[in-house]
Amino acid sequence: MARKFFVGGNPTLNRSTALIKSLVAETLNTAKLDETVVVIAPPAVYLEKTRATANKNIGVAAQNVYYKEKGAYTGEISPAILKDVNVEWVILGHSERRQYFNESNEFVGEKTAFALENGLKVIPCVGEKLEHREAGKTMDIIFAQLKAIADNVKDWTNIVIAYEPVWAIGTGKVATPEQAQEVHAGIRKWLADNVSAEVAENTRIIYGGSVNAKNAGALSKEKDIDGFLVGGASLKPEFVNIINARL
Ligand code: PEP
Repeated sequence: MARKFFVGGNPTLNRSTALIKSLVAETLNTAKLDETVVVIAPPAVYLEKTRATANKNIGVAAQNVYYKEKGAYTGEISPAILKDVNVEWVILGHSERRQYFNESNEFVGEKTAFALENGLKVIPCVGEKLEHREAGKTMDIIFAQLKAIADNVKDWTNIVIAYEPVWAIGTGKVATPEQAQEVHAGIRKWLADNVSAEVAENTRIIYGGSVNAKNAGALSKEKDIDGFLVGGASLKPEFVNIINARL
């Protein structure tokens, strides 16, 4: 099964209704969607509006979700609530959530399983900090993050793994195509060795970290890079060029 190119947009925090509207109506709705799956992840209060504005072939993702169905968990959102407003996807374990909200590997693994079991598709994020890379620990960090997911998940059909080196997120320091390919190939081999050859072959592994219209083309040519998770550039018209990077 060929892995269809996949591009997610993550506008993170601090965006306005007008910006979301122009992003979706003027940018995303003009993208060519035959060859590429496109998913946009606005802040939670904009999800419903985004779903209503976006072309139906564009997926909508939440930036996080909790792992309880309902109850006294003030401030949290459940998969059932997301499904209620026709949101199909969720990003989990973004490095900002790991760093600022102390999300552990195990917590991300449990949330991933709960979201999948409750009908969402999940983009779990993995990635090393600069100090890990400099200490030669990149793959150890990523394998521990993957193991916590694999320990909890039985069916990988609805997972797209995002490799986001923390040192590349929002810094303008993109990984080189060779650096990204090396990690993507390592993740795929880990899946083959620890889950199954079929899951390794079929699971998309997308790259995130300072992707823009200039660097997307070269990254997209690497054989294990199946798309992108884009932060800053997802808010600009160049997002369409990133979506079309492989065409
Ligand atoms: C992100 O926020 O997930 C991200 C990859 O950001 P940026 O593209 O701005 O580095």
